[in-house]
Amino acid sequence: NKFVYFFGNEETEGKNSMKDLLGGKGANLAEMANLGIPVPPGFTITTDVCLLYLEKGAYPEEVIDQINNAIIKLEGVTGKKFGDTENPLLISVRSGARVSMPGMMDTVLNLGLNDDTVIGLSKKTGNERFAYDSYRRFLTMFGDVVLDIEHEKFESVLSSKKKSLGATMDTDLNADALKELAEEFKAIIRKETGNDFPQDPREQLQMAIDAVFNSWNNQRAITYRRLNNIPGEWGTAVNVQSMVYGNMGETSGTGVAFTRDPATGDKRFFGEYLMNAQGEDVVAGIRTPEPISTLRDNMPEAYARLEAIYMNLEDHFRDMQDIEFTIEEGKLFMLQTRTGKRTAAAALKIAVDMVNEGLIDKRTAVTRVSPEQIDRLLHPTIDSQAEYEVVATGLPASPGAAVGKVVFTAEHAEEMAKSNEKVILVRTETSPEDIGGMDAAQGILTVRGGMTSHAAVVARGMGKPCVAGCGSVTIDMACSSFSVCDITINEGDYVTIDGSTGSLILGEVELVTPGVSGELDTLLAWADEVREMGVRTNADTPHDAQVARDFGAEGIGLCRTEHMFFGDDRIPAVREMILAEDTEIRKAALEKLLPMQKEDFIGIFKVMEGFPVTIRLLDPPLHEFLPKHDEIAEKLASLEAEGASTAEIERIHKILERVDSMEETNPMLGHRGCRLGITYPEIYEMQVRAIIEAACELKAGGMDIVPEIMIPLISHVNELSSTKKDLVAVAESVMAEKGCKLEYMVGTMIELPRAALTADKIAKEAEFFSFGTNDLTQTTFGFSRDDAGKFLPFYIENSILPSDPFAILDQEGVGELVKIGIEKGRSTRPDIKIGICGEHGGEPNSVKFGYNIGLNYVSCSPFRVPIARLAAAQAVI
Ligand code: ADP
Ligand code: MG
Ligand code: MG
Repeated sequence: NKFVYFFGNEETEGKNSMKDLLGGKGANLAEMANLGIPVPPGFTITTDVCLLYLEKGAYPEEVIDQINNAIIKLEGVTGKKFGDTENPLLISVRSGARVSMPGMMDTVLNLGLNDDTVIGLSKKTGNERFAYDSYRRFLTMFGDVVLDIEHEKFESVLSSKKKSLGATMDTDLNADALKELAEEFKAIIRKETGNDFPQDPREQLQMAIDAVFNSWNNQRAITYRRLNNIPGEWGTAVNVQSMVYGNMGETSGTGVAFTRDPATGDKRFFGEYLMNAQGEDVVAGIRTPEPISTLRDNMPEAYARLEAIYMNLEDHFRDMQDIEFTIEEGKLFMLQTRTGKRTAAAALKIAVDMVNEGLIDKRTAVTRVSPEQIDRLLHPTIDSQAEYEVVATGLPASPGAAVGKVVFTAEHAEEMAKSNEKVILVRTETSPEDIGGMDAAQGILTVRGGMTSHAAVVARGMGKPCVAGCGSVTIDMACSSFSVCDITINEGDYVTIDGSTGSLILGEVELVTPGVSGELDTLLAWADEVREMGVRTNADTPHDAQVARDFGAEGIGLCRTEHMFFGDDRIPAVREMILAEDTEIRKAALEKLLPMQKEDFIGIFKVMEGFPVTIRLLDPPLHEFLPKHDEIAEKLASLEAEGASTAEIERIHKILERVDSMEETNPMLGHRGCRLGITYPEIYEMQVRAIIEAACELKAGGMDIVPEIMIPLISHVNELSSTKKDLVAVAESVMAEKGCKLEYMVGTMIELPRAALTADKIAKEAEFFSFGTNDLTQTTFGFSRDDAGKFLPFYIENSILPSDPFAILDQEGVGELVKIGIEKGRSTRPDIKIGICGEHGGEPNSVKFGYNIGLNYVSCSPFRVPIARLAAAQAVI
């Protein structure tokens, strides 16, 4: 078995594709060596050894042999000897997992030094200061990293040394001072561990290797893996590498750089370096590093070589690289290269630029930007330089950050917005009456409610930041204030919310609005070429429909008609309709609504010309449109006090009785959806008439209109067949009246488990399915989505559920029902069109799942359309 891989020009045994075995750092060191790039030679001990060691607590004999042989080889290549007192070989010991992992063991440099070899190093280089600088560094790193002594213990001795000598920087210390430090550091080690610092280089190496392996299972590393879904079975490799010295004086140094600007993506070399320094000095902030551009002036030859190398690396890896280098007396060495982390804006720019430069193809570019990054690009964010304190955290219900003055009512929000004030609407929870105020506000904060609460759904639809379910906030309406951990915030005070993280911050924090460039359009167009699944939107107004069209939506997957029933001009007629005592009165009220509803559809159809528009007939329980019991009771009391006529009092009394009689214990499982349409057929008849009249009129004007009428909340096929028969009759008669022949479809939502399980029967009646995964999640889990906020956060925190099923589709349970629904539906109607219109339609993992189980399209809120387009393309690749 091969456990050790050598690297260093001709001798290199590994390569870039061996990351699983050699770790990211080791594989790329080998790859650089293969490319003829100057890399200090060394060897990588594989991740297999880590796993063996962690399991057995010891190495197989073979491993020790292979390490010893590698050291001999390294001595040959470098012409130095490990532990030699004349020309000692010094090495670094570096951890390196498959992916770069903060929390793992830090690097130990200059290993192999001891009281004798340090003298040899000094003599050989003729540079005593350098030798003892290396020694004190090694003692600190070995003490800190391998022996687990607090870094501060060494640091404070170093500081007092500098102070006593009037030195400000490490580089001001001379050889004698550094020599003293070495003695003092050894004393610290003796005191802290009870043992002398190990002078034997072989022992030092063994201890360092063990420490790297053990660090795979330290708490920091475990936590990092858990947060980033990195399996514990990977293990880490160890890289043992001959030292090159950036601390040999003013013609030596060390630095880090990115081949392109990681913040903007601009094609310019970007980095920092320090002269006469080693390892972490650049990032440790002891001295202020110089920008890489000054290296060109100071060391033109080394710079020219660095430039050639970074271009070569970018060409080779075909991605932006994050590199580490060291210059030893004018000679350049590369110590690391990896794919560079970057902001969302940079990811986008680099992906598009690299296609234009011919470095990558369009498919690759589509994989280089994550859906989350697209999300970030579409919303303002908190300035990364800003300093602030988060006072409370709720659910990240709708992304983006917003700043404004606190208001507590929708009316107030609208008023303030009219005078151009920026406001944050703070509510216990929102209801459909708050829509105007939500629209006027910069952002919304609610105390109660989950990821699919009214506030969350509406805010996402509007593209407004929203923090929902921020339970530590208590609103005091009487005082127009809210409090959170002993702090009181009054109406008119500024707050900042971040709907991407769920944070509430007091005061105004600086925001940045990312510029959405033409590059986004370009990348999304490439995504469209790749993807096979359609992307539609959930939109109820011409405005939202237009926003979604601009974002590339190819139709509407869910137009909720109930939102059209709110609004000052409509609600009286809606209430009249609901409170009607007989069919005649109800019909008369519906007559009033018909023209308004028709106008709505005309507006939406126009925007979506040529694309399908799925209209869902009325869904919510009717009492949502009625005034609340208390409101009417109050009115009644004041009428009585005023001495109003008995007839008037009687009338209001009746309304109160009716409202009370309509109250339901479980409204979400109550008289709603198709159950309304079946018991009050006039309502759906009016809606279908409005849809077909609108479509016929536009068609007469030469427009191509494709309405899809969707009946909600079917559990039994009979509900659908009876409703459908009625509605088709209405549609046919409208077309006859208008002398118009129109293509339209009638289909249903699958949002109850029974519907999914009997989808074969339902598909005989339904021409399309749309999975309403919000209700389907609610009814599959039996979780009320309005009340789940009380326990879901606890579930997630304690790993009872992996994530909020209202945000990320539960593939195992709810997803299984969707799968069954698709299979059964297609078994009786093979060409049935199937989509999903829950909030999951714009969630990247759920989109991918949807593709894999054969959906024809996903439908999501307008601002998520670009995310869904990209996720759908990535699902194919
Ligand atoms: P990290 O993963 O924290 O970046 P590294 O193993 O890359 O840790 O080491 C950090 C730094 O230590 C490197 O960037 C380099 O400056 C220095 N270093 C590591 N190995 C050597 C070496 N053989 N010679 C000189 N410097 C080294
Ligand atoms: Mg590094
Ligand atoms: Mg529903």
